[in-house]
Amino acid sequence: MSDPASNPAEDVAGADAVADCPRCRKPLPLCICDSVTPLQSRLSLLILQHPQEQDRALGTARLTALHFANAVMKVGLSWPSLAKALGRPVADPSRWAVLYLGSAKAAALDPGKEVVALNRKGEMAENQRAILERIEGVVLLDGTWSQAKALWWRNPWMLKCQRVILGPKRPSAYGQLRREPRRDGLSTLEAAAVLMAALDKRPEIAATLQAAFGRMLARFREVQGSNPELAPRPKPRRQRDFRRRRKL
Ligand SMILES: [Zn+2]
Repeated sequence: MSDPASNPAEDVAGADAVADCPRCRKPLPLCICDSVTPLQSRLSLLILQHPQEQDRALGTARLTALHFANAVMKVGLSWPSLAKALGRPVADPSRWAVLYLGSAKAAALDPGKEVVALNRKGEMAENQRAILERIEGVVLLDGTWSQAKALWWRNPWMLKCQRVILGPKRPSAYGQLRREPRRDGLSTLEAAAVLMAALDKRPEIAATLQAAFGRMLARFREVQGSNPELAPRPKPRRQRDFRRRRKL
């Protein structure tokens, strides 16, 4: 039997004919999976993707999960508990960190810290070090800002998890390629890089993930030149369209 995925070169003629990678689900010309080796981490990772998050070209959820031997990725809107989402028992959900979507800014609460734990009121928690050291897993919500908010509200078990926010040391490498889906401006892959490296105290985790993101974006830019229908340019903001039309 011939496998359409085995010969990407023949398929590059048109977007319809291009097969997807079964692992990262990106069109094969955009796939960088072969350069990914799963990392061992003390922490588990759970990525919940909103079903309408369809950005196959620039999305990072599956690529992020591929980086960790201990990662689970689920697509859906709601799960009855952390254990059900994860597919295994969880002794204490408060030992799982969830990236909080509120308006608190890490730089204002604890300047220089990449990960800040919040209390139930959304303020900086006391005993930062003790809280962060007992974290054994991380929940990330993948989607646009409003999709991530929908996931938050539809999964009340997240209230039992430890809320954290990020104070990334550098802006997202997406740059102008896409409008940032998260308030902290990071892709799911970059958020995982900051969190998993900081909580596991292993900076090399962040370096590995950021390098993979760099390769993904470099591949995207290459494909923008050779096969632009696979790597669409970001839609201009509506406001700017409006001004441009007025000038004409
Ligand atoms: Zn792939």
